[in-house]
Amino acid sequence: MSDTPLVLVINCGSSSLKFALFDPERPSAFLTGLAEKLGSPDASIRFDVDGERRREAIADGDHAAALAALIAELDGRGLLGRVAAVGHRVVHGGEAFTGSVEIADEVLAGIEACVRLAPLHNPANLIGIRAAAAALPQARQIAVFDTAFHQTMPKEAYLYALPRRYRTELGVRRYGFHGTSHRFVAARAAAMLGLDPKDHGLVVVHLGNGSSATAVRDGASVDTTMGLTPVEGLVMGTRCGDVDAGALLYIARSEGLDLDGIDTMINKQSGLLGLSGLSNDCRTLEAAAAEGHEGALDALGVCAHRVARAIGGLAMSLTRFDAIVFTGGIGENSARMRREVCRRLAPFGVVLDDEANGRTFGGAAGRISVGDHPVVLVVPTDEERMIAVDSAAIALPGVPLAFGLDEGAAR
Ligand code: ADP
Repeated sequence: MSDTPLVLVINCGSSSLKFALFDPERPSAFLTGLAEKLGSPDASIRFDVDGERRREAIADGDHAAALAALIAELDGRGLLGRVAAVGHRVVHGGEAFTGSVEIADEVLAGIEACVRLAPLHNPANLIGIRAAAAALPQARQIAVFDTAFHQTMPKEAYLYALPRRYRTELGVRRYGFHGTSHRFVAARAAAMLGLDPKDHGLVVVHLGNGSSATAVRDGASVDTTMGLTPVEGLVMGTRCGDVDAGALLYIARSEGLDLDGIDTMINKQSGLLGLSGLSNDCRTLEAAAAEGHEGALDALGVCAHRVARAIGGLAMSLTRFDAIVFTGGIGENSARMRREVCRRLAPFGVVLDDEANGRTFGGAAGRISVGDHPVVLVVPTDEERMIAVDSAAIALPGVPLAFGLDEGAAR
């Protein structure tokens, strides 16, 4: 039996825990899964191992219970002792973290300090880190931040036009998120197109339940649509994206909504769901739009318009415009959304290849445009792989990786 060191990736959401186990000798994660609805009576954990799927109930289980179930699974398979590195997705790294780091006491303190900026996410990430450190004392723990990739944004892109003291006293500025996805997809796209690593320009459009777009110049983020929080920017499943701050004040005053009410409204009741009055799910909306549902047509139309507008704006941070790259559940699968966005980008010379657009979904990567300036690509994202690559670079230096970005990601 092989005894290569393994890399475990853990992604704790507010009520979920996603995991993936990588072996340097294998091109993809060979044990993956998801614990969902944590903290509720319906909590469960699912394991996918070499094509087989198993689900276990963990009623009322929390993140620690999910991790305990995962540890038991690894132990039962004789894999526990081989885990040499655990890579954790951490949502907010503030200005302190510009790249992935090994977790030591001062790193934990730094993640704690960012809890005020991401009160729903960083605490869940900390639970995962502490539980993994306790259960896997032999493994090195690595933090990979959603915000880190965007720390290369220039001041012009990250400052808000608010009084200066909010930046210095409260850390109010634009940070951006989805950095791990944008970094992975940008690297893949640049490799697919054979671009000069020191001279290229991309706009990466990640459209999922949460959505953001990023301008990537020579491999570095130079502007992105999300801000201090993930609410800013594009229309999302249930988040409103850009909205006149004055409109929120008007609604609050008119309806007597307090801050928690506004918080819920802009995060949970807006976006595709709010606009359509039907669903936050793009597939449901596309089916309803085909039947002429006005709310669904509005939601998809506003979403596409805002994506195209964002691409135009982000391109102004580039020195050349080589490609627009779609990723995320909607970006990878919805030919309709990509068509609607690209139609609006005709002034940039974008010409969609309808046939290629129609056949690129379900994990396929490729070019979907006829024109060259810029090219339009679809590149499936793989945040877990990116986290594993970073973790291995720190914890297993020099070990060749079959799951590295060059070989393994070329699906
Ligand atoms: P998350 O941000 O939670 O990771 P995903 O990236 O999985 O979400 O994206 C979920 C979105 O992708 C949903 O709106 C879903 O409807 C959409 N989606 C998935 N498959 C398709 C498809 N074939 N056509 C249109 N939309 C799709």
